[in-house]
Amino acid sequence: MAEQKKPADNRSPQQPPSFEWRNIFIFLAIALVISSWLNLVSAPPSEKIPYTVFKEEVRRGNVAEVTMKGDTISGTFKNQIALDRLKDGGSSTSETARRFTTVLPPVDDKDLIPLLEQNGVIIKAQSEEVSWWLQLLIGMLPWLLLIWLFFYTSRKMQERMTGGNGGIFGIGKSKARLYSAEDPKVTFNDVAGLDYAKADLKDIIAFLKEPLLFRDIGAQVPKGVLMMGPPGTGKTLLARAAAGEAGVTYFSISGSEFVEMFVGVGAARVRDMFEKAKKAAPSMIFIDEIDAVGRSRGTGLGGGHDEREQTLNQILSQMDGFTPEESVVVIAATNRPDVLDPALLRPGRFDRKVVLQLPDREARGAILKVHAARIRSTSDLDWSGLAARTAGFSGADLKNLINEAALLAGRDGKKEVDREAVEQARDKIVLGAERKLLLTEEQKKTIAYHEAGHALVAWLLPHADPLEKITIIPHGVALGLTEQMPREEQYNLRESYLKERIAVMLGGRASEKLIYGETSSGAENDIKQATKLARKMISRWGMNRNLGAVDFSSEEDHVFLGQEIAHPKKFSDHTSEIIDEEVRRLIEGQGKLSTTLLTKNIDHLESLVNELLEHETLDRGSIEKILKEAKKIQEDELASGEEDA
Ligand code: ATP
Repeated sequence: MAEQKKPADNRSPQQPPSFEWRNIFIFLAIALVISSWLNLVSAPPSEKIPYTVFKEEVRRGNVAEVTMKGDTISGTFKNQIALDRLKDGGSSTSETARRFTTVLPPVDDKDLIPLLEQNGVIIKAQSEEVSWWLQLLIGMLPWLLLIWLFFYTSRKMQERMTGGNGGIFGIGKSKARLYSAEDPKVTFNDVAGLDYAKADLKDIIAFLKEPLLFRDIGAQVPKGVLMMGPPGTGKTLLARAAAGEAGVTYFSISGSEFVEMFVGVGAARVRDMFEKAKKAAPSMIFIDEIDAVGRSRGTGLGGGHDEREQTLNQILSQMDGFTPEESVVVIAATNRPDVLDPALLRPGRFDRKVVLQLPDREARGAILKVHAARIRSTSDLDWSGLAARTAGFSGADLKNLINEAALLAGRDGKKEVDREAVEQARDKIVLGAERKLLLTEEQKKTIAYHEAGHALVAWLLPHADPLEKITIIPHGVALGLTEQMPREEQYNLRESYLKERIAVMLGGRASEKLIYGETSSGAENDIKQATKLARKMISRWGMNRNLGAVDFSSEEDHVFLGQEIAHPKKFSDHTSEIIDEEVRRLIEGQGKLSTTLLTKNIDHLESLVNELLEHETLDRGSIEKILKEAKKIQEDELASGEEDA
């Protein structure tokens, strides 16, 4: 999510300001530097001369005064002396010196003082001791350094534990991000489609806007809303937009942020967050991934976890503790409603449920337009056409598509996102990134026959989804791809359509067998998908005459995640055998159908392969041109063919 998030200021007003050791340290360091600098600049520049030259000048009566400090003597000449006699090699120079310094030899020179006195030199002496404050400073410096280091490291450790909330006891502070009513607003205009969900949230928004009105009537407004839906369908966005519409403070936190390794921390954070929300009322709390803390207690699902249970208990008791005067609404989001604790869902808690589905064609078009408004694009882009070709995309996928297109356009040095960039971005997301593989001509030919087999069967079968693209350029893990795009949103799949889908899946293998007399390992994924679909048709959807409309499934699709969850099988081994046999029969029948269709249309198969080898990728228009002669088979012909199979 690209939204700007501002961390809540979690420092309570009573908390004393933190003692800034860093500032003291910096101050002392500056003082030390200034004092050394003053020492340097206050001494006038002097020339270093050998001890013998110094004594010579004293004897000549040219030294006015000397200052002795330790083994160093500095002083002034009465008349400036030429420096060239001091230099090695005696090179002549016009420089002269008035002030000098010299160093006493390590052996005691008893004649020096009498010599100076005889020549009338003023003698001064300076103590070697450093001034008291400088001594103090130098003595304290290592300690100050140590103290600073201690505070610095302990603060860093705290920040790591509390996520930067500061204060040594900040560990129990909530990490919720705060968006005040003054922050840049996200409103329902930023959320495309989802009209049903927006309507469900209308009365909550009305309550937050005018809580008194509802209270006066005696209405009990829901305290909690549970948003459920597949990832990326806009749950977070919708919650933020609802807060924006109501113009209230919005606290956003993820369920996983409550849970730390210390037991009790999560519960303390929940308390802290609810306290803050109550203070800021009317306000909204958004808890993303509520399943991280809200899983059924005591089932062992997700592992026994004291900390998680305590956190959940705290959320429940906080929600119960709302008084009618407190206008705080809690919105939680999850894509695993099946694992939530029933106590979360009972009336008075998250009793309002809003289900978000993947966007339909119209909503996809609207989402594309919302995000396209943020990029510079050419005017010929057809967003509704693209919406038709992005079935199954979530809002997040569509946003990603636009961003990917902008990145590709930028990479190619374009000033605007054009049709080509959008197409490339879509292909990258749907087909996977292009992969450079060194393939021989023969390998390319096998791939071309395989893909052309899928495509031709799909073209000939009346219920199969229309062809969108065929390519023999490797993408992701696939060596080639045949893309079909449904004409409309599919909510209910008919048996005839599903059977033809299996035939299309097996078309690649059938084509290889027809041309080469043998198959290759390239059909592995097709076989896997076809078997999965056939098993579902027979054991779950009652599409087999012998087994009838009885549920023989041993796994279930997750409602939002598109994953299968296994559960123990509740039928006999004998039934298992029948299912296996029926699956095999169905697949074999559809395989035969593919072979028959390809044999009858072998010329079209060859043309398609030749075009593929020449162009590597064929789009819808080119496919239609090549195959326009190949007639779709009639449904009655298909029915009799299936009977034969
Ligand atoms: P998750 O379950 O993974 O947390 P989510 O359902 O909370 O996902 P969001 O985070 O709200 O999804 O959406 C992801 C991105 O997709 C957002 O940045 C948003 O801009 C975009 N998006 C999703 N749905 C829509 C929509 N209906 N209109 C505009 N943008 C959308």
